[in-house]
Amino acid sequence: MNVGGILNEKGRTVETASPEATLQDIASVLGTKKIGALIILSSSGKIAGILSERDIVRAVAEGGAAALSKPASDFMTQKVVTCSESDTVNQLMESMTQGRFRHLPVVQSGKLSGIISIGDVVKHRIAEAEFEAEEMKRYIASV
Ligand code: AMP
Repeated sequence: MNVGGILNEKGRTVETASPEATLQDIASVLGTKKIGALIILSSSGKIAGILSERDIVRAVAEGGAAALSKPASDFMTQKVVTCSESDTVNQLMESMTQGRFRHLPVVQSGKLSGIISIGDVVKHRIAEAEFEAEEMKRYIASV
């Protein structure tokens, strides 16, 4: 299955925030929505960065609770690696492993069209492995 197929199943909603949103604002959204990262969009709607729970933990570890009132732009990762809807699950695994991150925004025709987390990748990899095992069992039973 490719990224487009995963998005068709899970939906294309992406939680975003502005660069001016505080870490407290972002932590609230991550907690309420039970997600691990937000895409930071500029006022023109372009991807300006990504901010994950790890960035918040690092900010608080270094600056204490005062960091929570600082803006996302101070802590987000600006060089965001993205994927496209035609990418395969294997390509995503490679990208996440190489970049050591667990989120990949999906960009299609220059627009943000979804986000894939490592949880989505694992879920689909397990489903694929189970399907292959079933096929193998069926084949063995038939010969
Ligand atoms: P994560 O594993 O996704 O919680 O992120 C770990 C670190 O990688 C954090 O500093 C994130 O800001 C950064 N990060 C997460 N996803 C991406 C991405 N797609 N491209 C670049 N950096 C990312």
